[in-house]
Amino acid sequence: GEDSAVTVAIRVRPLNSREQKMKAKTVVSVSGQETTVHPPHSQQKFSFSFDFSFWSCDAQDGCYASQETVYESLARPLLDKVFQGYNACLFAYGQTGSGKSYTMMGYNEDAGIIPRFCEEIFLKAAEVKEDNVTCHIEMSYFEVYNEKLHDLLTSDKEKNKTKKTALRIREHPELGPYVAGLSAYVAGSFADVQAWLELGNKQRATAATGMNDKSSRSHSVFAMVATQTKRETSDGESLTHTMRSHVNLVDLAGSERSSSAQTSGMRLKEGASINRSLMTLGKVISALSEATQSKKKPFIPYRDSLLTWLLKESLGGNSKTAMLATVSPAAVNLEETLSTLRYAKQARSIINVAKVNEDSNT
Ligand code: ADP
Ligand code: MG
Repeated sequence: GEDSAVTVAIRVRPLNSREQKMKAKTVVSVSGQETTVHPPHSQQKFSFSFDFSFWSCDAQDGCYASQETVYESLARPLLDKVFQGYNACLFAYGQTGSGKSYTMMGYNEDAGIIPRFCEEIFLKAAEVKEDNVTCHIEMSYFEVYNEKLHDLLTSDKEKNKTKKTALRIREHPELGPYVAGLSAYVAGSFADVQAWLELGNKQRATAATGMNDKSSRSHSVFAMVATQTKRETSDGESLTHTMRSHVNLVDLAGSERSSSAQTSGMRLKEGASINRSLMTLGKVISALSEATQSKKKPFIPYRDSLLTWLLKESLGGNSKTAMLATVSPAAVNLEETLSTLRYAKQARSIINVAKVNEDSNT
């Protein structure tokens, strides 16, 4: 296997219109790989170094990091790894409203990482075809809400029938954890993917209006399996070589502690469960980062939450993994911003051991 640290990037979003109206103070700055927080009325400052620090605060600024810049720096290297036969994973972490979904999915013509990744996967698939490699792509899209897992790609009819049915995670002895009964569709073109994405995003959004601010409390995972098959004939014998890569693109629930919202019983339950997946993710990350600093093999609590169990391989396992932490530049969010930066700093010390997933058959 090939050892590699998790790649970690920060992205600072623009002040929103409410913050602009309030004349909110910007307390975050970026210089090279560093992100710095400057608490107002204080000489103290907090600097953190990352693989990338993206400044997307002011579009007029020469240093502005566009959707394309973020994609090219953070996601394209993962796509290249997929075509070498590695698993790949990208997480977006940050407080609600800090730009996770904007970065992962994008809005309207400002396409984010997921659509760009899918568009390029088909361009690449066409390229490798010239070398007699066929690339088969399957996709799934689901969300984890309240420690329950729901398919986002079931049609309305099916959905009525299976309404509220939460899918379960099973563990395959060799292939590891997977979602039993999750729909997976073969995508033949980027247009196919776009149609599925539209359906999935709509289902996510519909659910959000039905329940109070659900989208900020749910994790969404867009998953693909890319199988490359190369057929060769030597001395009249036909030989097949297969590489399979799992890709997980994850838009996490808002990282803020929703303590003030936890008044009624239902809300409390929702908050508590969200905390479970995010809290366990935090524990897994900190246990893994300790593991790289000591010789002892610590216990990693993957199975304590749905999300960490399912994404086990992406965290300290067989995957090329990147984390994008999104922050607000405004003074009112200073505490959340600092806590996001500390979390991201810890993620940077995780070492994954990725290997090519391949098979040869005659
Ligand atoms: P989250 O998913 O983290 O809750 P969103 O991605 O929905 O947050 O972002 C909140 C708002 O901020 C959206 O209206 C979005 O368009 C805007 N926004 C976030 N990041 C950026 C960015 N880098 N550039 C421009 N607008 C952004
Ligand atoms: Mg969002």
